[in-house]
Amino acid sequence: MIEQTQAALDRGEQAMILLNRRGYSFAVLCRACGAKLECQNCAIALTHHKPQNGDDMAREGQRLECHYCGYRRTVPARCPQCDSEHLYYLGAGSEQGEEKLAEIFPSARIGRMDRDTVRGRYDLERLLARLHSGEINLLVGTQMIAKGHDIHGVTLVGVVGCDHSLSMPDFRAAERVFQLMTQVSGRAGRGELPGRVVVQTYYPDHYAIVAASTHDYLSFVEKELKYRRWMHYPPFGVLANVLIQSAKLEEAAGWAAILGKWFEKAKPEGVRVLGPCTAPVARIKGIYRFHLILKADRRDALQRTLKAMLAFMDREEIPRRHVVVDVDALHLM
Ligand SMILES: [Zn+2]
Ligand SMILES: [Zn+2]
Repeated sequence: MIEQTQAALDRGEQAMILLNRRGYSFAVLCRACGAKLECQNCAIALTHHKPQNGDDMAREGQRLECHYCGYRRTVPARCPQCDSEHLYYLGAGSEQGEEKLAEIFPSARIGRMDRDTVRGRYDLERLLARLHSGEINLLVGTQMIAKGHDIHGVTLVGVVGCDHSLSMPDFRAAERVFQLMTQVSGRAGRGELPGRVVVQTYYPDHYAIVAASTHDYLSFVEKELKYRRWMHYPPFGVLANVLIQSAKLEEAAGWAAILGKWFEKAKPEGVRVLGPCTAPVARIKGIYRFHLILKADRRDALQRTLKAMLAFMDREEIPRRHVVVDVDALHLM
């Protein structure tokens, strides 16, 4: 990727690097006790950000931020759990990508496109104008760079670690990765010159990566549909995410268990029930989250079951506002 990028820059062309994580480092760990610095409101690792336009390594101006609720804190000098000073910053986000690229390509004219540098339409237009004019010849950014920009000088697209979501518990993960890779690949070679895409991945044999890198939409669809059919996921059935939430852990866990037992006993016809278990993000903004996933071959069977569940909740006095039913959920977080 480094060689290809240098070659493109040497030819007077432009290159784009996709690094689909915001911030500088996306986790802070303690080497002594293993603690992960999490948001005080959410079960989410805090992202390390450095000041926008300073390369000073001072802790002032640096911050840890939760990308779910916006909570911010200063960067501690010591582990809040065990007071060790051996804190360890893990994983490179787009801010670090920009810094690393400046080291590797000292003569490149680098720009960054992510939610921290582009806060509104004006920022985006200004950045795009600098790309079109060639003032920027190396762009690093999050998925924002994949969105249909038509920059004729771009002949190389590098993809760095867009595949972490393939290990996430979400049946749409492969589709999202394929879509993002296909979209960002489409940024290369839009002008007269041919384009090239270099992908760095932990899953070189995954069908989504293989198909995206060979522009083989049909083989992706075939494999993805086979998997969805086998697992009874949409479009071969309907799905609902039933999210049970409360600021009190015992309350959320208790209601989730009650609902789980009811499903076990009721054995709704034509509906498979997964869970209850803690949601992939177990706490957001101070609210504890448990969930059940319902899968059905037919929509009417799912609707009947959800109606019966709501009636049961009313009898058990489980308040409806604590249970969110998301039919055709896009995310299972
Ligand atoms: Zn520690
Ligand atoms: Zn948070």
